[in-house]
Order: sequence, then C-alpha cells, then structure tokens
Amino acid sequence: MAGTQTEQATGKRHQVVVIGSGFGGLFGTKALRRSDVDVTMVAKTTHHLFQPLLYQVATGILSEGEIAPPTREVVSGQSNAQVLLGEVTGIDLEARTVTSQVLGRETVSSYDSLIVAAGAGQSYFGNDHFAEFAPGMKSIDDALELRGRIFGAFEMAELGAVRGDNVDHLLTFVVVGAGPTGVEMAGQIAELAHRTLKRDFRAINTRSARVVLVDAAPQVLPPFGHKLGEKAKAELEKLGVEVVLGAMVTDVDERGIEMKFKDGRTDRIDTVTKIWAAGVQASPLGKTLSEQTGAPLDRAGRISVNPDLTLPGHPEVFVVGDMISLDNLPGVAQVAIQGAKYAAKEIDHRIKGKPAQGPFKYFDKGSMAIISRFRAVAMVGKLRLTGVIAWLMWLAVHLVYITGFKNRITAVLHWFVSFLGRGRSERTTTEQQIFARSALARLKRGATDLVSEPGAYDAARALLETTRRAELEARAAEEARLTDAGERGVKVGER
Ligand SMILES: Cc1cc2nc3c(=O)[nH]c(=O)nc-3n(C[C@H](O)[C@H](O)[C@H](O)COP(=O)(O)OP(=O)(O)OC[C@H]3O[C@@H](n4cnc5c(N)ncnc54)[C@H](O)[C@@H]3O)c2cc1C
Repeated sequence: MAGTQTEQATGKRHQVVVIGSGFGGLFGTKALRRSDVDVTMVAKTTHHLFQPLLYQVATGILSEGEIAPPTREVVSGQSNAQVLLGEVTGIDLEARTVTSQVLGRETVSSYDSLIVAAGAGQSYFGNDHFAEFAPGMKSIDDALELRGRIFGAFEMAELGAVRGDNVDHLLTFVVVGAGPTGVEMAGQIAELAHRTLKRDFRAINTRSARVVLVDAAPQVLPPFGHKLGEKAKAELEKLGVEVVLGAMVTDVDERGIEMKFKDGRTDRIDTVTKIWAAGVQASPLGKTLSEQTGAPLDRAGRISVNPDLTLPGHPEVFVVGDMISLDNLPGVAQVAIQGAKYAAKEIDHRIKGKPAQGPFKYFDKGSMAIISRFRAVAMVGKLRLTGVIAWLMWLAVHLVYITGFKNRITAVLHWFVSFLGRGRSERTTTEQQIFARSALARLKRGATDLVSEPGAYDAARALLETTRRAELEARAAEEARLTDAGERGVKVGER
C-alpha cells in the first residue's frame, strides 16, 4: 500500500489519524515518531489516563495529575504529532474521514491510515439507571466523584451521629464487582476506615464502617484462578471486608442495593455509597465500524478484527486495545500497548515498502492485583506470587508505566505517605465533584447547553452593537436638537 491514492493526489505526507489518548492511542502515536507520516491524535479528553491507578485517586492517595498528564505535553517533543480535542462521533470508511465534536464545534480529519483505540466504558448490563447512584471507575471524573462520595459519607455520618441519628447506611460502602478494580477499591476503603480516618472524627467510630464486596461470580478475581482468588478473599476478610459471592445485583437506588442469590434468596443492603466495578462495554465506535464492514460485535460490543488487527476490507484501518475481540485477548493495558505498536510498525513498513509483519502476537507479561498495602497477588507465567513480594512487584511495574518523570517522583512520595504512614495527601473534595455529573445529565444537551453555539456569540454581539449604536445615535441627535433649540444649559439672565 506504499503511497496511497490520497497521498498521490495531494502530495501530502501519509496522514495517520489515531482515535484515543489512552494506552493504545498514546503508544501508537509515540511509536510513529520516526516514521515519515503526520499523526493526528483525536481524543475526548486532554489527558492520557493511567486507569490502573484510578482507585488511588478515588481514595485520596494520588492526585489526578499524577495519573493523567496532558497528552499535548507528553507528545510535545514529537514534531510529527498533533493533538486534537474532540469526541469522535463519526468514521466514514469510504471517505476516509473522522468527524469529532467539542461543545457543538465539529472537526473533520482525513486519513490515509487510521488507528482506532477508543477503549471501553462501564457496563451496567442493561441497567443504565444504576449509574446515577453507583458511579463506575473509568475516568478522572468518576474517581473524583467517588472520592467526594466516600469522604463525604464519613462527614455526613459525623453530622448524623452528632444529631443522634442512625448512620449505619452512611458508614456502609458497597463495591460491586470482585475483579482487580473492585478488590483494590474495597481494600482501600477498608484501610481508610480502619487506619487513615480513625483519629479524625469525634462522633463516629470509622473502624465500625462496613465494607462489602459483591459479585455474581463464585470467586474473587476469577482470571487469577481458584488459589489466588481464595488467597485474595482471605486477605480482604482479614482487612474487615465482607465478601458476598454468587449475588446478582438486581436494583440500585439512592439508599441501597438489592441482590438476588442463585437459590432465589434476596437481600438488601442499606448504603449511600455504591461503587460499580463490574462489566465493561466497548466504545460505541465499534458499532459504527461493524455497520460499515460487517465485522461482528461480541456481547461487550467488541469488534472482530483480522489477525493483523485490521478491519475486513479495510487494511488501512487498525483497531486495538479494549475495543477488539480476537483470540480471547484480555482487556488489559499490554494488549492495547502491544497492539498499537504493532499497528504503527505495520504502517511504517507499508510506507517503506517493506513486507507485512504477519499476525499480531500478544506477549503476556503477567497480571497482578493489589489488595492493600503490603498485600497483592501476581501471576507471571507459571509463577504465582502473593504478599509483600507481589506488592513490591506491583509498585515497580506501575512506577515504570506512569507517564512522566515528575509524576513518578511525586507518586513515590505519596506512596510513602500512605503506605508507610497512615495519611492520604489528596483528600480534597468539593460539592461540585459529587453532583456535577448528575446535574449535567439533567441538561438536555449536557455541557453544550452552557456555552453559546458556534457563531452565535458573534452574531448576538453584532446585533447588540447595532442596536446600541442606533440608540446612541438617536440620543445624540436628541441632545443636539435640545441644544439647538436652546433647551440645554443655563440661560443668561436666569442666573
Ligand atoms: C479502574 C481500572 C483499572 C485497571 N487496571 C488495570 C491493571 O491493573 N492492569 C492492566 O493491564 N489493565 C488494567 N485496566 C485495563 C486497562 O486500563 C485497559 O485495558 C486499557 O486502558 C485499554 O487501552 P485502550 O487504549 O484500548 O483504551 P483506553 O486506555 O481506555 O483509552 C481510550 C481512549 O479513547 C478516548 N475515547 C473514547 N471514546 C472516544 C471518542 N468517541 N472520541 C474520542 N476519543 C475517545 C478516551 O478518552 C481515551 O483517551 C484497568 C482499567 C480500569 C478502568
């Protein structure tokens, strides 16, 4: 595919558009730094997000800046890369264009090659109304909202206790989903209640807080196998987390959750703070691509791709990371990173007229999940690790992958504060943090309702100016008439 039609027609360099600034998008863009191409990375946030550490933002260990550096800054030294803010709303595979929008402003980017790395969002398994009361853990907004809700629940409990109210529902925290994110969240909330906050309140005993981890599966951390799952469960219970397995969440409301067990039993937990860490749904862009190519989607909305990560009939379009369904690859950062690097290399090979690389092969570097300080589980090849060794490995690996040298330094300092001491450096929360998501959802067009339409501001100002000018001219004419008629000023003789 050396020298596509578009390049020949325009005489421009090969144009690569990358959708997303997550693991796939960022690593794909960086991998093209030495290629003879122009890269445009379009993403709906201005940052690259290190999702595995979101739970540490939610529980006050790290600041959002440490895990979400500005993408623009990260690629500022890469002269062939351009960053555009925008939510991609359309991909036209025939016209080879990507349409993105920000607050009603539309941008169309043309491509010769496209890398789609738009990731996945939270899935409530068809019960999207749960989201109002049980935020997920997918974005910085989610993590900050959860931080506000978690620390806010302790504040409200203190107030209630001072008044003599029952505050059990405020001191109960339910995490739905016993995968790595759920386990990490439950462990950290337990540490907050039992260690960090124990001396900060007067009317409540934070150590009496109830932390419940619920999952429909029969074990904790299913991908880690039975033995590590049991180990993680035992460690969580040591921390004071109640682990409820085989329980399907059937309803979530402001004051609690309802569950149904396999034997038909039902139960309700009264709780104000619910955290949804179950299920993912691939970006809706997968559906757009499926409709145009016939490539099937699986139940999680992931699109089937060719073994070289391209779409059927469109060798110029690569899809990588959480959006793809290929050989049961897991939704983990390494799949996205390696897939994006593979796609970038393939584009480079084509431009240079080199042969194709052959099918994409994923190299599994292992998986790990942290339970609390000094406790983690890890699987590396056949090796199964637990306890402090797994925890140290977890620290080292995450440190390597945090983007930016200064972020690594500050993250280490914050980990010292939280893991060796009992403090949390990032406990700041605001009312807006907690309620802005729901408030925006109630606006018809979301944030777009809060700004003027493109061009509308200028038109309104022009109209205002015309009207004001006419008014001022009329007033000036009246003043002149009054002066000429001698009706202005003090008449001589009247002094
Ligand atoms: C809480 C949490 C913890 C995790 N922990 C681990 C872990 O410990 N280890 C591990 O390996 N993996 C972990 N993962 C999974 C890992 O983060 C993902 O597999 C990885 O991020 C996938 O990379 P991606 O590039 O496909 O998608 P993402 O990294 O999610 O990036 C998607 C990008 O696309 C952008 N985007 C989405 N839609 C649009 C659109 N329409 N227009 C423009 N831009 C768009 C997003 O803003 C984002 O920049 C975790 C995930 C979460 C949520």
